[in-house]
Amino acid sequence: MAQALSHLRRPGLSKSRISAFEQCPRRLWQQVHARERSDVDASTQMSFAAGHAVGDLACSQIADGIMVEAEPDLQAALTRTAELVAIADRPIFEATFEHEGVLVRVDILVPERSAAGVAWHIYEVKSSGSAKSYHIGDLATQYWVIANCGVTIASASIRHIDTSFVLATPDDYNGIFSDAPLMDQISGIAATRDAMIEDIQEMLAGEEPVCTTGTHCSSPFACEFSSHCSSLEPAGPEWPIGELPNTGARLAEKWSAESVFEIADLPEDAGLNPLHTRIKHAVRTGEVYLDSDGVRQATAGWAFPRIWLDFETIGFAIPRWVGTSPYGQVPFQFSAHVEQADGELIHVEALDLSGRDPREPIASALAKLPREGAVIAWNAGFERRCLRMLAEAVPCHREALFSLAERTVDLLPVAKAHYYHRDQRGSFSIKAVLPTLLPDLAYGDLAIADGGDAQLAYVEATDPGCSGERRAELAAGLVAYCERDTLAMVEIYRELSGR
Ligand code: SF4
Repeated sequence: MAQALSHLRRPGLSKSRISAFEQCPRRLWQQVHARERSDVDASTQMSFAAGHAVGDLACSQIADGIMVEAEPDLQAALTRTAELVAIADRPIFEATFEHEGVLVRVDILVPERSAAGVAWHIYEVKSSGSAKSYHIGDLATQYWVIANCGVTIASASIRHIDTSFVLATPDDYNGIFSDAPLMDQISGIAATRDAMIEDIQEMLAGEEPVCTTGTHCSSPFACEFSSHCSSLEPAGPEWPIGELPNTGARLAEKWSAESVFEIADLPEDAGLNPLHTRIKHAVRTGEVYLDSDGVRQATAGWAFPRIWLDFETIGFAIPRWVGTSPYGQVPFQFSAHVEQADGELIHVEALDLSGRDPREPIASALAKLPREGAVIAWNAGFERRCLRMLAEAVPCHREALFSLAERTVDLLPVAKAHYYHRDQRGSFSIKAVLPTLLPDLAYGDLAIADGGDAQLAYVEATDPGCSGERRAELAAGLVAYCERDTLAMVEIYRELSGR
């Protein structure tokens, strides 16, 4: 097997570029012709870093593997791969192959010798908790390139994180991966690659293709050219049917066939459910729907002292603390506003940025909350799960934490049943509801303004390289954000109930 880079008068392709083409030809055209794109945000950078860490861990679990470096250049990587494949005496990491201008680097390639000769097992490492449908295309591209380089393939699998893994011993990650064998599914797709590559090269040689925006712009990946494409399209409906909660996308598709795009234009006999009917009325008239009597009745049983509670959590692909699992959410912060019957509020909080397992200090602080009264959260299933998880993890506070979980009630369905402002745009997240009731209390003045920011702040603050000054700044931002969440609940409730 001798490999040399094809003459790249045509744009070079990779499996990620082919994947971009499969999502949308225009996306690949934009990538190749370097039009303006959104910056890679911190959250995307964090997932790239997590992906690299998972890849490194997968390689570290394979004995005697050898890495093919991409330096000094890819031609050197191709040559080195050809040498290692010819010897076939050990696993290869980042083996590099090229066919018809498509370059692939294979995460793990493992040889198997038999009387019939050498065949290779391909493992593509993913940080996800399962093999996704878009991984199959990636694997098919690798198979197509490698097979066309004259290498015999025995199997091809996605090696992904097994989310049922629990870290039992520090740094012992044996068992964290699971393999999804996909050879049966990729050979048919690989057979289409020759024709697809021709189509791609033809498309790239031409003018920018016209593709209208739609659901494909965010799935399987958020497209980095959404601003560019949206700017070229006529303005959409002011209050699109797709904003209706739960079934909005399906309804939008159904009614677009009748050329109905606006919520207000849905006919009387459209068969809308009560919530959608209320939203339609709000959109059409601009009136706010508020049933304060209904709010008071629904919450009459919420005993004082009321504990308005919110957690911030972190989950890692590779769990850091014994007893935790991949992507298992671990609370590192909570805020609680404790409200007496006369309206007096006391704020209680805990934040752990030590980088050590935060469950014990957070559980200890929670256990000091009042032993009676309703615990109120927004979308309370999450807070209940956090409390139960902490109760199991920190047995000395088990009783207090289970009691908090059992007393937890949910403000979200109360708001959903008794309030709507059209500026919520179909959403009942606290961040959609708050500005419609209390614009001065919205999150615009905060350095950390959502849960994603909070997770990024946690990762940065617990990095050993973070300075004390920066850690203090992040801590202040986290405290302000989490406190705002619980204060917002209190004030939203007061507005809704007319108290
Ligand atoms: S925003 Fe949508 S239509 Fe535009 S390039 Fe991306 S995926 Fe294609």
